[in-house]
Amino acid sequence: MDKWKRRTRAVHAGTRRSQYGEVSEAVFLTQGFVYDSAEAAEARFEAAGEDEFIYARYGNPTMRMFEDRIADLLGYEDAFACTSGMAAVSGALTALLKAGDHVVSSRALFGSCLYVLEDILARFGVEITLVDGTDNAAWEAAIRPDTRLVFLESISNPTLEVIDLRHVVKVAHANDALVLVDDAMATPIYSYARECGADIAIVSTTKHVDGQGRMLGGVVCGSRELIRGPIEAYMKHTGGAMNPFTAWTHLKALETLDLRVRAQAESAARVAEALDGHPALSRLRYPTHRAHPQCDLARSQSEAGGTVIAFEVKGGKAACFSVLNALEIVKISNNFADAKSIATHPATTTHQRLPQDQKDALGISDGLVRLSVGLEDPDDLIADLLAALEAV
Ligand SMILES: *Cc1c(COP(=O)(O)O)cnc(C)c1O
Repeated sequence: MDKWKRRTRAVHAGTRRSQYGEVSEAVFLTQGFVYDSAEAAEARFEAAGEDEFIYARYGNPTMRMFEDRIADLLGYEDAFACTSGMAAVSGALTALLKAGDHVVSSRALFGSCLYVLEDILARFGVEITLVDGTDNAAWEAAIRPDTRLVFLESISNPTLEVIDLRHVVKVAHANDALVLVDDAMATPIYSYARECGADIAIVSTTKHVDGQGRMLGGVVCGSRELIRGPIEAYMKHTGGAMNPFTAWTHLKALETLDLRVRAQAESAARVAEALDGHPALSRLRYPTHRAHPQCDLARSQSEAGGTVIAFEVKGGKAACFSVLNALEIVKISNNFADAKSIATHPATTTHQRLPQDQKDALGISDGLVRLSVGLEDPDDLIADLLAALEAV
């Protein structure tokens, strides 16, 4: 596969054909596998080979095809596919940590990730230090000799803060800490986790991989040693493995991922440009757009800014709601990376439960909108947004 470019590999990598030679990947909807003899069963339980499976909670051929293809896409040796992004995040953290370990994490995290760290892992004796991820010196100050693991979102949700990943990896590795990146926002196409040296990249495949608002899924990518060691051991015994039908839809979705994400990112860049300087807005954030304070860092790390934009409507919640309610094409919902463009009001939905001081610290104001740019014609999207902004 190595001699082919990424788009080719995203169509072919990991394919395993049955004796029938099917063109499209088969979906193996089976819980278990039949052995030729009692001796063969015993041998498989001792050491299952490449194409040998035991039970769907441990893995199955469709899931393995998807794991191989997405690991290849992100540049990692191996991957374990899970029921959701959160199964992947919580599983990876739990598999790698024990009581007494110290974790440093950026503060700007997806709410459920924060819950896993602060409410669940803390209960099991893991000590957490949260830092402003955009402040390089803060990472250096927080990482200690007993820091086992560093966690961050490469691009934060919903405010699109960008972290200097090379710097964080350098400081973490100097202290023998593993770096886990929640890479949902960066997209698997523009991901730079591997390039910057992150040990593990976790992707909510609910987002761009599915890309059409259907399936929940997640994947943990890393070295074979980590994935087939502690990660697989934890996942297979606790029941977080992806089901074969989801793995099959994800495999087919990977064939078009590059086309979809590039089209969405191109549209997002155009939408950001069209909204730049609009009198109804007090803030505009798109990682590679010059209005973003970390634009240079974002451009140095990635070829494009992704598919999500954040902007702040002047006049607080009332003005913001009237803009949202005036949208015709863009749907009000709380997911992102769908083919359908989606606007989210984080302060009253995804981040509603966050205390006000934390909302303030993270920049989640009453006027903030997270806009996920879909596959519609960008001219129509721009017209829809500008018309809605006219409403205020
Ligand atoms: C969506 C998301 C998750 C959770 O993924 P699910 O598939 O919904 O469980 C985790 N982290 C980030 C950054 C996300 O955007």
